Amino acid sequence: MLVLLVLAIAFGVVALCSAENSSQQVIFIFAAFTCMAGLIVASLKLCRCPHCGKRILNGVLVKKICPNCRRSLTTGKRVKR
Ligand SMILES: [Zn+2]
Repeated sequence: MLVLLVLAIAFGVVALCSAENSSQQVIFIFAAFTCMAGLIVASLKLCRCPHCGKRILNGVLVKKICPNCRRSLTTGKRVKR
């Protein structure tokens, strides 16, 4: 997740900085978009509970327990509270 985000930003910055070489710029912009697309797909997959299929749009990186089925998103065990 974070690696893809950093890569996307890095490629975007490099693409903007290498303005003198247009063919190289296109490659970097393409790489940045590929990273961003991968990031979106990964976030969509991660924002879904693997047990009940409910989407967890709010803070999937922070939340460890699904609010719908009360299962841990990482281990799948039931969390009692
Ligand atoms: Zn769930």
